[in-house]
Amino acid sequence: MTLTGKQLIGYTAAASGTKTFSNDDVDVRFFEATAAEVDQAARLASDAFARYRQLSGVTRAAFLERIAHELSLVRAPLNEMAQRETGLPSARLDGEITRTINQIKLFAALITEGSWVRAMIDPAQPDRQPLPKADIRQMQIPLGVIGVFGASNFPFAFSVAGGDTISALAAGCCVVYKSHPGHPATSEMTGDAIVRAARATDMPEGVFSLLQGAGHESGVQLVTHPLISAVGFTGSLAGGRALFNAAAQRAEPIPVYAEMGSVNPVILLPGILAEKSADLAKTLAGSNTLGTGQFCTNPGVFLALDSNETNSFLQTYANTIAATPADGMLTEPICKSYAKGIARLSNHPEVKAMATGQATEKKRSGIPNAFKTSVAAFLKDASLQEEVFGPSALHVVAGSREELIEAIRQMHGQLTLSVWGTPQDLVDYSDIFKVLELKGGRIICNGVPTGVEVTHAMMHGGPYPATTDSKYTSVGTQAIYRFTRPVCYQNYPQHLLPAPLLNENPLNVWRWVNGQPQQGPLTTSA
Ligand code: NAP
Repeated sequence: MTLTGKQLIGYTAAASGTKTFSNDDVDVRFFEATAAEVDQAARLASDAFARYRQLSGVTRAAFLERIAHELSLVRAPLNEMAQRETGLPSARLDGEITRTINQIKLFAALITEGSWVRAMIDPAQPDRQPLPKADIRQMQIPLGVIGVFGASNFPFAFSVAGGDTISALAAGCCVVYKSHPGHPATSEMTGDAIVRAARATDMPEGVFSLLQGAGHESGVQLVTHPLISAVGFTGSLAGGRALFNAAAQRAEPIPVYAEMGSVNPVILLPGILAEKSADLAKTLAGSNTLGTGQFCTNPGVFLALDSNETNSFLQTYANTIAATPADGMLTEPICKSYAKGIARLSNHPEVKAMATGQATEKKRSGIPNAFKTSVAAFLKDASLQEEVFGPSALHVVAGSREELIEAIRQMHGQLTLSVWGTPQDLVDYSDIFKVLELKGGRIICNGVPTGVEVTHAMMHGGPYPATTDSKYTSVGTQAIYRFTRPVCYQNYPQHLLPAPLLNENPLNVWRWVNGQPQQGPLTTSA
């Protein structure tokens, strides 16, 4: 396809502004979305929502399936363009496209089946004493138009057709997507595939629009637009927090589901360090440097008790990092911010440099680094808990079991926390787990945090600063509930009720009747 560099507003490519940007990787200038274009996209989406929200789950699923199909038709050029724009290798991008397509199909299956609407029926009790009880029914309905922001490090899975857009569309919401300036061409190509799918399945124009921008203006305009009902964001703490604050200051505040960074602490228990400290050090150094450390689940802080086994683990970890070559980083700002983070740790009086990897000629090169500090220093300075986005790790050594637990207790909110231990360690240190579950969304036993499965039970979220709302996940089918709200229908006549709440249950969805799961027509009136 020929790139236009324009906004995709409904079914039209538009460029009314004069400000442009480019990313050096493609020979196209991209037009910054103007305030008028943000407004146009939001209005069109709001109009489309009136029809889109009424479509059946099966009809919306056909749209999602078609998006998956359109993406599969252009996967080779998409992969090639994403390589140019992000520097990520082809195999990694190919896996990410597959994951994105499978994720879309999972949401299509979810809304085809239909029970996700959480239909509940508490039938009336007209004879109840002393007062009759009304008929009360509840289900989830879509919120409206969602503003979505993707991250640079996943140009597909957390981008234009990624989890936020797809879960919003699955819920029955329309989407205005603000493209990431790190991969605007990949974004336009993906957006174009969504537009083709929308046309082919006769979706209302405006169900999806894509805006380009390399400054913060259009993003802030989107979040503060009165027709936007919620925001899905994946990116940095600074970006997520800025948009969260902007949304909170609106005349009508709206939810911002910002999924941000994390240091994903890894706790190493004594038994397993005695058993296989060298293997563990190599595995964890590999996880830390995977993809030049540019994963939100990258393990950035390690905790262990002071011992000979820990020292031997640290020695192998340092040797592995020292032998690891630098690789390219995604964008210039990310590369600069990594250098700043490394300088902050290198200059810290209570942090010791353990190892630095091999420099290379790679563009936007990120050299792996490992540092060491004590629990006392870690607890004294909260900046040591900040994410250094890239291949950097801080090893925190505890003088006692109590110190180790205190360090976990004072940990900021995390996407993940991992524990490595023998079966006996997991018994001896079981008290740690009670603290861990208060600190993060996903607790992992004997595994690396990198790699997030897209399933029903996945939780990819966590207490602030990992996200702005710890109750929700951005990965897996439960992500849909960020973009819905429950409505209660009291004493409604049958002809006014939505299909999932009708007595005969024409969609045959699972429902909670008087708090009990039930499928088929309503069988109780008490
Ligand atoms: P980013 O710089 O925050 O960019 C994300 C998006 O937000 C871009 O569209 C950016 O566009 C916009 N943005 C940033 N600051 C803004 C502001 N103040 N006002 C308005 N818009 C703003 O993030 P990134 O560098 O791409 O991604 C790296 C970060 O994402 C890391 O911290 C990583 O851990 C995190 N991440 C988290 C997850 C997760 O699931 N939790 C997944 C992947 C990555 P402009 O630059 O044009 O403003």
